[in-house]
Amino acid sequence: MSVQVVSAAAAAKVPEVELKDLSPSEAESQLGLSTAAVGAMAPPAGGGDPEAPAPAAERPPAPGPGSGSAAALSPAAGKVPQASAMKRSDPHHQHQRHRDGGEALVSPDGTVTEAPRTVKKQIQFADQKQEFNKRPTKIGRRSLSRSISQSSTDSYSSAASYTDSSDDETSPRDKQQKNSKGSSDFCVKNIKQAEFGRREIEIAEQEMPALMALRKRAQGEKPLAGAKIVGCTHITAQTAVLMETLGALGAQCRWAACNIYSTLNEVAAALAESGFPVFAWKGESEDDFWWCIDRCVNVEGWQPNMILDDGGDLTHWIYKKYPNMFKKIKGIVEESVTGVHRLYQLSKAGKLCVPAMNVNDSVTKQKFDNLYCCRESILDGLKRTTDMMFGGKQVVVCGYGEVGKGCCAALKAMGSIVYVTEIDPICALQACMDGFRLVKLNEVIRQVDIVITCTGNKNVVTREHLDRMKNSCIVCNMGHSNTEIDVASLRTPELTWERVRSQVDHVIWPDGKRIVLLAEGRLLNLSCSTVPTFVLSITATTQALALIELYNAPEGRYKQDVYLLPKKMDEYVASLHLPTFDAHLTELTDEQAKYLGLNKNGPFKPNYYRY
Ligand code: NAD
Repeated sequence: MSVQVVSAAAAAKVPEVELKDLSPSEAESQLGLSTAAVGAMAPPAGGGDPEAPAPAAERPPAPGPGSGSAAALSPAAGKVPQASAMKRSDPHHQHQRHRDGGEALVSPDGTVTEAPRTVKKQIQFADQKQEFNKRPTKIGRRSLSRSISQSSTDSYSSAASYTDSSDDETSPRDKQQKNSKGSSDFCVKNIKQAEFGRREIEIAEQEMPALMALRKRAQGEKPLAGAKIVGCTHITAQTAVLMETLGALGAQCRWAACNIYSTLNEVAAALAESGFPVFAWKGESEDDFWWCIDRCVNVEGWQPNMILDDGGDLTHWIYKKYPNMFKKIKGIVEESVTGVHRLYQLSKAGKLCVPAMNVNDSVTKQKFDNLYCCRESILDGLKRTTDMMFGGKQVVVCGYGEVGKGCCAALKAMGSIVYVTEIDPICALQACMDGFRLVKLNEVIRQVDIVITCTGNKNVVTREHLDRMKNSCIVCNMGHSNTEIDVASLRTPELTWERVRSQVDHVIWPDGKRIVLLAEGRLLNLSCSTVPTFVLSITATTQALALIELYNAPEGRYKQDVYLLPKKMDEYVASLHLPTFDAHLTELTDEQAKYLGLNKNGPFKPNYYRY
């Protein structure tokens, strides 16, 4: 077995399957798709009709879905399985492959040694000390303590609701509902809202071109035939487009919400009406939350063989309550930072018993979710909550990573005077080169109109800072959950809190000074604005391709470990979105490809490339 050793400097990601070039037949065998269909899915070289099959010579690589990767690495393809073992630099994701499950052992200094051959692991569930076991153990209406993940409680508003169901106090669990086909295998707020939800889904479809393309391509071909996917994500119109795409690709799905506030009731109703067993409504109690997950998993005559999770709660529930299910589960696709972190912990402890795909760290997800999504949604969140004009306002943005860069770009474009704080000299220099004043928070705290945190750190804005802010200063967070602003320090008797709008609090000092705290320090855009559908399209396409890849991978291709999407798949996700812009991608000539040492069809960058 060969292992690619990556220097610590270059190492940025966890194991990623090393890709080989794919022949059309390899690609076809992976997805069960015809080569013509593969061609039809490809973005047009030179801007032709996106739906016209490209000539074979011009066809892009594999039909994406790592499709190729599986075929290329399968023993059947006559190639030796390889993995590039890498060390992550992000402490949140620090990952070392466990001895039994991986091909390579990565030592703390980044050196890689070959590991013993993988032995099929027994599923381990007995150890009650595993992280997940901090969680509630009983399903009982009001018996569960506050222990669901932060991601499941961060409020998240996705779109305006057309139908106000707030008058209806009856718990959906106490209602007898049937869809028009007579099925009652769902639990939503009100099945009668289905028509409104259908409209939302149709609107979302317009901005999700890659999923719609996957559906077209699936006509007659079902790469997910036989897949039984249990999902736990935000239930929004965009998720509905993903679920219906998975259905079109042959999968059966059962779904719960990963967040007690984020479900769009109309959309859940529309999904239930079209036959998807959905268990979710806006404003679930914690007990409801687990009950809904359980209803997705604990079904007579149906057992999931794939998991799509956002936050790790579903995975946790199955680990805890139905460990034997993992005997049939082929893989987990995880979307969130939190969930991925848990998977790495399980992997490190040798307790991960199926392969998992870390979708969160794929390039397309990171760049678009963190940078472009925040660039669009920061102003949306600020404006909806404050109605403020930003031209000429002084803003300090703490952290100049992906999220910070997006926020700064948006505010600069609005004519704001933007200051940046950073701890990392590289990001600090980037801020300077981009034309922002690099300061310490103390230096500007008295004068700024708006403070925005996006560091992923804690206590970046302290009570001392809050005390020194000027009257009417707006304080909000775009980073990790609610740790960045020390909101707890504001809960003292001398300060008065006034809720002035949904998600807007005035905190008033004894001398009358007030600050405007948005979303109680939780993520502003997830709490107070919508997330652009196009960004979600990229994430959803990545999820769909990861599911296809894991479901179709030959036995042994993926071990009980956490994998990143193959680079080719990332490139494929991007390419599926290019036709929307009538973008014309340049093709390498043979001579250029040889000069750069690349395959004409990609991957175009090494794994450590930072984009
Ligand atoms: P990043 O690591 O690229 O950037 C964070 C930056 O903050 C780094 O450059 C770091 O040096 C800097 N930093 C850390 N501590 C600091 C401090 N005390 N003062 C000043 N700077 C400090 O991460 P990112 O991708 O930009 O994500 C930042 C946070 O936003 C994460 O918690 C992430 O989970 C979250 N996030 C939010 C959204 C959203 O939609 N709101 C989307 C993606 C990620």
